[in-house]
Amino acid sequence: MRSLDRHTVLVGGGVIGVCCAYFLAKRGARVTVLERDQIGKAASFGNAGSIAPGHPPINKPGRVRQALKSLFHPLSPLYVAPRFDPALAKWLWSFSRTCTEEHVEFAMRTLAPLGHASRTLFDELIQTEKLRCWFCRDGYYEIYLTERGFESAKREIKLISGCGFHPGVMSGDALREREPAINDRVAGGVFYPEAATINPYEFVTEMAQRAEHYGVKFQTATGVVALRSADGHIRGVQTRNGELIEADSVVLAGGAYSVPLLHALGIRFPLQAAKGYHRDCESKEGAAPLLSHACVLGENMVFCTPMDGFVRFAGTLELSGVNHEIRQPRLEQLTKAASRYLKTMGDAKVKSEWCGLRPCLPDGLPAVGAVSRHPGLFVATGHAMMGLTLGPVTGKLIAEYVLDGSPGMDISALRPERF
Ligand SMILES: Cc1cc2nc3c(=O)[nH]c(=O)nc-3n(C[C@H](O)[C@H](O)[C@H](O)COP(=O)(O)OP(=O)(O)OC[C@H]3O[C@@H](n4cnc5c(N)ncnc54)[C@H](O)[C@@H]3O)c2cc1C
Repeated sequence: MRSLDRHTVLVGGGVIGVCCAYFLAKRGARVTVLERDQIGKAASFGNAGSIAPGHPPINKPGRVRQALKSLFHPLSPLYVAPRFDPALAKWLWSFSRTCTEEHVEFAMRTLAPLGHASRTLFDELIQTEKLRCWFCRDGYYEIYLTERGFESAKREIKLISGCGFHPGVMSGDALREREPAINDRVAGGVFYPEAATINPYEFVTEMAQRAEHYGVKFQTATGVVALRSADGHIRGVQTRNGELIEADSVVLAGGAYSVPLLHALGIRFPLQAAKGYHRDCESKEGAAPLLSHACVLGENMVFCTPMDGFVRFAGTLELSGVNHEIRQPRLEQLTKAASRYLKTMGDAKVKSEWCGLRPCLPDGLPAVGAVSRHPGLFVATGHAMMGLTLGPVTGKLIAEYVLDGSPGMDISALRPERF
């Protein structure tokens, strides 16, 4: 059978699943996306909307010490809900072992070519598919209140520059000249020119529409409960209502919810859900815009992204399992933090609030590729804080895996069976 005649089922309709479907169908493949809820309504709905190639993973030297100090503090940017959970304990142990200079460098060298490729694909997609999704190519500013934070950012840019990006150090005054909302307490920051911002939900829905145009079938409210195999080969999926859907290839792109399907096949996949929040705010009537340029509040790890008539404040990382419970004080921390850096927050009016789950693997790298023990099965998840950024390149690579048998770039470091 020609590879294009084979049927590929995508499990999950977030940014990753939709990008995979688009690139497969664009090359003429027969594709069905099964989504248990609605397209793009999980983590891909409310993220910060930053396309941040060259962004280092959260695994960093010193992270464990920093995290231990604030770990169980309910208002710290990184929070672990205290509980007995052996899988989480193992994850934390593996995570701590990769918080080394060598691993960060390895992760950066692995992610950088993917970041460059994805950034180029965003430009191409926006232009050729005429996507309407509030795409802004203006980069972002990472801003710091303290000299200590500013110094650590300057150290980090050496590594980022070595990966072909061009971050630039800026004084507090230079930042205030560029972005009038930044207050006098900001000591300095770094400008990331290769970054861009976008409305993430609009991007996913626009991409889904284009994928549909190329022939992708979307089945929503269709949860997959099992992957069907015969002699180890994956032959399809079983849905919650008992339907068996045959497929020659299955791509698992279920985000933070992917684990049970892999565990059922005996595949070790130590993925944890890392909850993050957003608060969208608009300025009171007649007041100046809250912010004109995207900024990251360096000490608090809060991303502030101007979108269509509002600013999204997004961040925090909470390891509390797979749940969507909003802890109100953590949510409030987002705008409280912003008040320390921006003059305009007195005029902010809350428009909406949200939480979502990042799919995080302990080594800070996603899992993208074929599962050798189960021919026909591919995995595309674990993108943590980079799922939007790496969505297009992941989609292209998965299309190459499924249709050509191997990807066009060396991504052996992302093997799903590496754990
Ligand atoms: C607060 C916050 C801010 C972030 N900011 C950024 C950012 O600025 N830039 C960036 O690049 N990334 C960011 N991220 C990360 C990014 O949102 C995620 O990496 C990305 O959305 C993951 O996409 P996904 O498609 O893998 O998962 P999801 O968007 O979660 O989609 C998975 C989908 O699969 C479906 N599904 C799961 N299991 C099944 C099943 N068995 N059957 C059928 N359907 C199933 C789910 O219903 C869901 O719709 C942020 C995340 C958060 C929480």
